[in-house]
Amino acid sequence: MIPAPEALERLRAGNRRFVADARRRDASAGQARRAEVADGQEPFAIILGCADSRVPAEIVFDQGLGDLFVIRVAGNIVAPSQIGSVEFAAERYHTRLVVVLGHSRCGAVLATLEELQRPTERQSRNLRSIVDRVRPSVEALLQTKLRHDEEALVREAVRANVRVSAGQLRHGSDVLEQLIQEQGLVVVGAEYSLETGVVDFFDGV
Ligand SMILES: [Zn+2]
Repeated sequence: MIPAPEALERLRAGNRRFVADARRRDASAGQARRAEVADGQEPFAIILGCADSRVPAEIVFDQGLGDLFVIRVAGNIVAPSQIGSVEFAAERYHTRLVVVLGHSRCGAVLATLEELQRPTERQSRNLRSIVDRVRPSVEALLQTKLRHDEEALVREAVRANVRVSAGQLRHGSDVLEQLIQEQGLVVVGAEYSLETGVVDFFDGV
């Protein structure tokens, strides 16, 4: 079992390699590694990230097969199946670090802002279920002076959405709450910059 602080340091180091264009090419995803993990896994971090094609967790953290337990969904929202997936990995594999990974210019956050500013009837019920989960985090921001500054509004909305998801994981599950209190499980929030490639761990660290 890898303690949360060590897991976090591994992610930071991997992201530094990614940003420096110094990723460990094939070793972590080669045949030898595949054989090593075929019989079992011990992922050192659970990542709840956005489905955006530009933010694949394994690449931006420079990790290989068996390293990360990754859950991806548009807007890195927390619905019951996401909580269940985190519970599963934390209990079964004793993974002690959970990262909610949002990113700059997130399409799901932008769609929610759009919907709040100019409601439409056309949205499908399924897409609406995602927007509805992002909505509470951004609604409050529209009441502030941020609404006059589109760029700042999106930036803050992305972070607010990450904070809410991290909070829901910390407090929305008896299983996770117990692991946090008794087993050293840590939930942190982070934002990936599409522009620089840097992951900023800004919540819960
Ligand atoms: Zn996104």
